[in-house]
Amino acid sequence: MRGISLYVHIPFCAARCPYCDFATAPATSALRARYLDALVAEIAREGALLGRPRVRTIYVGGGTPSLLEPDEVGRLARALAEAFTVRPREVTVEANPATLDRARLEAWRAFGVTRLSLGAQSFSGRGLRALGRTHQPDDVAPAVDAGRSVGLRVSLDLIFGWPGQTPAEWRADLGAAISLGVDHLSCYPLELELTREDAVANWPGGGWPTLARWRAATAATQPDDRAIAVLYAMAHRHLARAGYRHYEIANWARPGSRSLHNAVYWRSGEWLGVGAGAHSHLAGARSHQPAALPAYIERVERALGRIADAAGDPAAEEAMLRLRLDTGIDIGRSAARWGTPASARIRGALVTSARRGLIRWSGERATLTPRGRILANEVFVRLLP
Ligand code: SF4
Repeated sequence: MRGISLYVHIPFCAARCPYCDFATAPATSALRARYLDALVAEIAREGALLGRPRVRTIYVGGGTPSLLEPDEVGRLARALAEAFTVRPREVTVEANPATLDRARLEAWRAFGVTRLSLGAQSFSGRGLRALGRTHQPDDVAPAVDAGRSVGLRVSLDLIFGWPGQTPAEWRADLGAAISLGVDHLSCYPLELELTREDAVANWPGGGWPTLARWRAATAATQPDDRAIAVLYAMAHRHLARAGYRHYEIANWARPGSRSLHNAVYWRSGEWLGVGAGAHSHLAGARSHQPAALPAYIERVERALGRIADAAGDPAAEEAMLRLRLDTGIDIGRSAARWGTPASARIRGALVTSARRGLIRWSGERATLTPRGRILANEVFVRLLP
């Protein structure tokens, strides 16, 4: 194996943000200890099964990995070093702006982190309240400075399209991120999943009915699709003017600051995901672990390994992922990889989308137009067999 990327899932959060679909759980010390035991065992097992491959990029996501104590970070680093040949070009850790103290930051530096991904979401108190976030707008700038002070690149996540958000408020959020001079920005529209998710079982309290009520009420008062498209176009314009390249549907980077790890996902590369709810793509096959913590821990304890995903359509999946990038898809290479019938079907779907102004052709290469980025799902649906 030429090397893989590694995703490590740390599910713990100080509180559950009601819009969030990730596999999360309360950060109690008993649960953390049980989870880390399972995670370390899974890392050792996977490292042995895969023949101790070289790890080229690492992404520690969650959840809120920055909640781990320094000794827990050290334990994770030792487990990875024993199981894999760890010589990564990029190591990212996700952090909540309010939970990043000096001792934790030093522990992550010792882990080898090169990049900090901060869940800012908004610089507006109204926005953070609308999203049910627990941190404050003033927490973000010190967290950016703290990351920079130890030599890390910094990426910020922002969410737009929350209830009552005006274009002026979104412009202010973009302006605040730009003025902090971060290297990378991810901007996501608020999308609320209205079907029950497995990770709800990890949390005490009202469970899914309470979350479903919040989501239904929030969805009913969000800006409509047209207004969201206006906010998205604003991000494209303002960030371009500030020197950020819109290199993926939801991601912008200063020169040399694109995410190497996420590029592996978008280019259908090889990655192993460990931890609750983590997904993997190895040797052309997709697999995952359960999002509910008891199910995940039990699976690892019984040495059952990852759950294979139902076989999809790999040519269509690759096309959808590649189209997310500004480099798009080379249909000639797709034909060489997947054969004529699959690539002819994809070409036909893209030609139809081009007639609707959603795709631009340059020779054999197809990319999304600005309108195509907003309506990407329309393009993607046509690619399916
Ligand atoms: S802190 Fe992040 S991962 Fe945790 S619940 Fe909130 S959005 Fe989800």
